Amino acid sequence: MKVFKFGGASVKDAPSVRNMAQIIKANLNQPLVVIVSAMGKTTNAFERLLDATMQEEDPTEALAAITSFHEQIIYDLGLSSNEALQADIENIYEELENALNKFSSTMGYDYVYDQSVSCGELLSTKIIAAYLAKEGIANTWLDARKVLKTDNTHRQAKVDWGASQAMIRSQVNPMLESGIVISQGFIGSNAKFNTTTLGREGSDFTGAIFATSLNATSLTIWKDVPGVLNADPKKFEKTTLYKQLPYKEAAEMTYYGASVIHPKTIKPLAQKGIPLYVKSFETPEAEGTIIEECQVPNLAPAIIHKDKQTVISFKISDFSFINEHHIHMIFDHVKRLNLSINLMQNSAITFTICMDDDPKRREQLRTALMEEFSIYYNEGLEMITVKNYNQATIDELMIDKQIIIEQRSRNNFQMVYKKL
Ligand code: ASP
Ligand code: MG
Repeated sequence: MKVFKFGGASVKDAPSVRNMAQIIKANLNQPLVVIVSAMGKTTNAFERLLDATMQEEDPTEALAAITSFHEQIIYDLGLSSNEALQADIENIYEELENALNKFSSTMGYDYVYDQSVSCGELLSTKIIAAYLAKEGIANTWLDARKVLKTDNTHRQAKVDWGASQAMIRSQVNPMLESGIVISQGFIGSNAKFNTTTLGREGSDFTGAIFATSLNATSLTIWKDVPGVLNADPKKFEKTTLYKQLPYKEAAEMTYYGASVIHPKTIKPLAQKGIPLYVKSFETPEAEGTIIEECQVPNLAPAIIHKDKQTVISFKISDFSFINEHHIHMIFDHVKRLNLSINLMQNSAITFTICMDDDPKRREQLRTALMEEFSIYYNEGLEMITVKNYNQATIDELMIDKQIIIEQRSRNNFQMVYKKL
């Protein structure tokens, strides 16, 4: 059996959903589980609705953006007269209303976020299941919250692997006897059956959870790019497609900020040796990228760009030198504030870190350490990591940039810079 994952861009309107149905139809020669995200930019729309509600603004417009977007797709797919679907959609909106009303009670933002934003995936999969059925593709809609069990950390829930694997196996396998299974990415539930989410873009990870639980022969992530490229085509003109990538390379690329696959996706697949295909939903017959246990000589350098970076330098002003005690002190606060460091460097009297822009926590860090150090910071910078670099690539990347920090190891090159 195989697992497919379709992200928001692959189901952003009726033609995309039709295209997805074609891809599924061409792959009905084995049991199939299809994991789907919310349609298009729906999750962002839900976040806006949530913000409006929280700030006690009129949520009508934000809500109408969501309802009319989905209504249009339902209409375009010829599903308007499907009463069962309409009833399901109404139930989801009711669930949403209940969730939003909880703001007035004691439940916190993250809890309400999960209860409401998850409706995007519910809407999407209900519409798609109905459309596939209309197209003659027998399918069962599965509420991922019934099988994907997590802890209580709303918006960044940790998966309970034992419970989830057992539930997925026992529920999905019988369903596969009567057709394909459609379920949601990104969402799960805690022990109390409250909805939880796995973090933004978490649907890839859901795909990996289903694939490993079911011992799938492969997971395929369908995207709007031809596969894994050596750089983001939205940011770089020249890109190269990797036909084959070792798990380790792919995992490290996501660590440095490559957004093509969710960072948590690779590990469970690698542990079970399940190959991950990244393919284009626009050219489904093209091979795309296969990520598996392999060795690829002369991999093209991977260029990973991150914007919105802050560099903070902690300087000792009393003629002593940076030592373990100072570093320990800095890291204590970094950990306490839950900051994550993208790069660090030290010299005799200065310790420097680079992190994502976050003025609030940067100030908290500065305040906590200002007695020990003179602290300087620089915001709005950019960072590039080149894995498997060569000098020509670096020379080209350095043009028109003021380099603030530069670092290289045998395989990786990193720089933080300001554009000139
Ligand atoms: N819909 C969620 C998001 O946009 C999850 C996903 O797409 O993977 O973050
Ligand atoms: Mg997405």
